[in-house]
Amino acid sequence: MAERYADVIVDISHEKVDRPFQYRIPPELAGTVCPGVRVHVPFGSGDRDRVGYVIDISEQAACPVEKIKSIAAVDDKGVTVESRQIRIAYWLKRQYGSTMIAALKTVLPVKQKLRQLQQKKVTGCRPPEELREAACQCERKHQAAKARVLLALAEDETLPYELIRRKLSVAPATLQALEKQGFLKIEAESIYRNPVKPMAGEERELVLSGDQRAVIENVLRDYRAGNPQTYLLHGVTGSGKTEVYLGIIERMIAMGKQAIVLIPEIALTYQTLLRFYRRFGDRVSVMNSTLSQGEKYDQIRRAAAGDIDVIIGPRSALFTPFPDLGVIVVDEEHEGSYKSESAPKYHARETAIQIASMYGAAVVLGSATPSLEAYYRARKGEYKLYEMNDRHGGSRLPDVHIVDLREELKRGNRSVFSGRLRELIEQRQAAGEQTMLFLNRRGYAGFVSCRACGHVMKCPHCDVSLSEHGNGMLVCHYCGYGERRRANCPVCGSRYLMGFKAGTEQIVEALHREFPAARVLRMDADTTRTRESYEKILAAFADGKADILVGTQMIVKGHDFPNVTLVGILAADLSLNRNDYRAGERTFQLLTQAAGRAGRGTKAGEVVIQTYQPEHYSIVHAARQDYRGFYEEEILYRELMQYPPAAHMLAILVISSEQEAGSSLCEQMADRVRQLMEERGPAWRQLQMIGPAQASIGRISDLYRHVLYLKHADYEVLVESKDALELFCRDREVKNVTVQYDFDPMNTY
Ligand code: ADP
Ligand code: ZN
Ligand code: ZN
Repeated sequence: MAERYADVIVDISHEKVDRPFQYRIPPELAGTVCPGVRVHVPFGSGDRDRVGYVIDISEQAACPVEKIKSIAAVDDKGVTVESRQIRIAYWLKRQYGSTMIAALKTVLPVKQKLRQLQQKKVTGCRPPEELREAACQCERKHQAAKARVLLALAEDETLPYELIRRKLSVAPATLQALEKQGFLKIEAESIYRNPVKPMAGEERELVLSGDQRAVIENVLRDYRAGNPQTYLLHGVTGSGKTEVYLGIIERMIAMGKQAIVLIPEIALTYQTLLRFYRRFGDRVSVMNSTLSQGEKYDQIRRAAAGDIDVIIGPRSALFTPFPDLGVIVVDEEHEGSYKSESAPKYHARETAIQIASMYGAAVVLGSATPSLEAYYRARKGEYKLYEMNDRHGGSRLPDVHIVDLREELKRGNRSVFSGRLRELIEQRQAAGEQTMLFLNRRGYAGFVSCRACGHVMKCPHCDVSLSEHGNGMLVCHYCGYGERRRANCPVCGSRYLMGFKAGTEQIVEALHREFPAARVLRMDADTTRTRESYEKILAAFADGKADILVGTQMIVKGHDFPNVTLVGILAADLSLNRNDYRAGERTFQLLTQAAGRAGRGTKAGEVVIQTYQPEHYSIVHAARQDYRGFYEEEILYRELMQYPPAAHMLAILVISSEQEAGSSLCEQMADRVRQLMEERGPAWRQLQMIGPAQASIGRISDLYRHVLYLKHADYEVLVESKDALELFCRDREVKNVTVQYDFDPMNTY
C-alpha cells in the first residue's frame, strides 16, 4: 500500500504555526486517521509531543520523504469532527481572518470527552388546583420562588430541572423543601424523556393566521423544490414570529430534518423555552453559557447521534453537528451579540447562511427592527421579505412622548426627570403600576476631574478616564483597574475633585430623593456580575417586589412585565453621540425595544423619551415605531458614506506593547495596500482606505492600538486584502504586535 500523509494543524494559537504540517500515517494507524481526528505528533527540533488536528489526507509528500515525521498516536479522548465541521472552520478562517486553530476551536467548542450528564426532571405530585392554592399561600408568606415553581407545575405536570433552576431561578434547597412537603418529585434519568408533560386540557389549539401560514408554506415549498432560501420576517414583538418558527420546525422534523434556533442569550426566557419544550418535548435541547464543558459536549453528542431534533441557544449553537439540518432560525437577527468578539470575528447571520448552504437548509431571520444589512438584502431580493404587522392578543402600541431636555433646562428644571416623566411616575405610583427607567450607561459613568486645575483622573493603563462608583472607588471600565477616590487633587492638591455623575446609581439616588416611597431596583453590569443575579433582579421585579426598575440596555430585552405601563428613556442621545457609523441604528433599535416594553399586558402603556435632539431621525422614527421611515434615511447615509451594508468594510486593528512598533507596522500595511491597488487591476482601485490612525481609545491595558479601515463594494476584495496583509506580516518578524481583522465591524475602533 502506498504511503499516506496527513496534514496536521498543531494546537498552538499563533499565526506562525497556522499552517498544516505533514506527517506520515504509520500502517497501524491507517484505519483510524481521517480528517477531523485528534493526534499526537512529534513537533519542532526537540520532537516535543504535541496535539493536533488532521485536516486533510494525501498520498503525496510535500517535501523530501525522509524529512517527514510520523504521527505518534491517535488521541481517542478527542471528539471526532466531521469533515463538514472542518470545512466550516476553513470558511470562517478565510472569511473573517483568524488562525485555523482558532477557527477550529470555534466550531468544536469542547475537545475532551466528559462523563455523561444526568438529566433531572421535576414532577408535580398534587392536582393543579392544590398546587395553585399552595402557591397562593406561599405568596402570602413572601415565598416567591416556591410560588413560581408551584404555579409552573400547575400548568405543566413535568418540567426539566434545569428550566426551573436556571430560568425560574429557584435554588436547589427550595426544590428540596417542596419535595419534603410532598408537592413535587425530583427524578434523575440518564436519558431525557418527555421533559415537559402539560396538564390535560391546558394545551390550546391555535389557529395560524393567513400571514403565518403563508410564510410557513412558502418556506416549505421552496425547501421541497430543492431551492431553500433566506427569509426575513419583519414583525413587531408579539406579531407571531415564534409561532412561525415553531410551525416550520415542526414540518421539518416530520420530514426527518433538524433545526437550529439562535436566540440572544438574554432573550432565552422561561416562556420561550417552555414553548419549544411543549411543542417538541424531549427532542429539544438548550445550549447556553451556563452549561459546563461536559454538558455542552453532551448536547453535541446527542445532536450528532440523532437523539434531538432542535437545539436552541446563542451564537455558538450554530455549530451543532446535526446529521441532516433542515432550517436555521436566527431570532432578533439585529442583535449585536451575534457578532463574535474574538477571532474569528464571525457574524452568526452570515455564518448561518453559509452553513445552511452546505446542508441545503433554509434560513429564517426574524426581527422587529431588522439590521440594515438584512433589510437591505431583502429589498434587493437576496432574501425573501415577509412583513407581519399586527400584534396578537390585541395589545396596543404605547403612546410616546418626546421631551426636549433643553426646554426643561430653560424652565429651570435641573432634575434628571422632566416634568412630564415625573408626573407620569407619580400616576403609576398611585395606581400601583410599574415603571422602567432606561439609561444607556452604567455605574457613575461620568469622569472625576479637578475643578481647580482641570486634571482628569485617568486609568494608568488605558487612555480612558476612570468612572466613579458609589462605593468610593474609581474604576476603569476597560481593564478593571480600581483605586480609592481621593480627597485631594493629585496634581494641585485642591479639595475640588468632583465627579460628573450621570449613571444608573445616580438615577437611583435621585429617585430616593424625589419619590421616597418608591421601591427601586437597579440592573446594570455592576449589579449583574453573574447570570443568577440577573435572573434574580428580573424575577423580583416580575414578582412586584419593586415599583421602579432602573437599568441599562439589559432591561429592554427578554422578559415580559404585564404590570409595566410606563417606560422612561432618560437620555436618548447618549447612544447617538458615539463616533460610530452604527450609532443611529443602535439608538433606533434600543428606543424601539425600550418603548415596546410598555403595555405588554392588558393595560395601555406610555413612553417618555427625554433627549437633547428631539428632531434626530432615529428618535423621531422610534417614537412612531416606524421602521421603514428610519431605514430610508439611514440607508441614504450608509450609501453616501459607503458604510455597510452599502459597501463592505474591514477594520484592521494593530495592538502593540510599544507604540512605535504598532504605528510603524500599521503604516507599512497601508503602503502594502496601496501597492495592491496598483498591482491588482481596476477593481482594486475602488478600494478606499481610512487611516492609519490611533484608535479612538489609543491604549487599553498598557497595549497601544492603531487602526486602518478598508472599504470596498466587493467583500472578496477585502478578503484578498486580508490574505495579502497576513502574508506580509508573517514575512516580517514583528515581535509583540498582534493584528486583528474585523469584517463589517459592529462598532468602530
Ligand atoms: P413574536 O415571536 O413575534 O414575539 P409570538 O409568536 O411569541 O410573537 O406571539 C405572541 C403571542 O401571540 C404568543 O402568546 C402566541 O402564542 C400568540 N399567537 C401567535 N400566533 C397566534 C395565532 N395565530 N393565534 C392565536 N395566538 C397567537
Ligand atoms: Zn487639581
Ligand atoms: Zn484601564
